[in-house]
Amino acid sequence: MEKACRTCHKILEGASCPICGSSDTSTDWSGFVVIIDPQASEIAKKLEIDLPGKYALRVR
Ligand SMILES: [Zn+2]
Repeated sequence: MEKACRTCHKILEGASCPICGSSDTSTDWSGFVVIIDPQASEIAKKLEIDLPGKYALRVR
């Protein structure tokens, strides 16, 4: 089961977040977006995402 970072919502493969370094993760998340070009993406702006990747929409 994939985990998502509670801080920045990045979906993780490892134990800690490669973007913000947080190890505060959750398996209780739903929906995701794949951000390819954060500068051109309205969703990325809304979620305050600076780097490309796969992000959970909701993390509990
Ligand atoms: Zn993070």
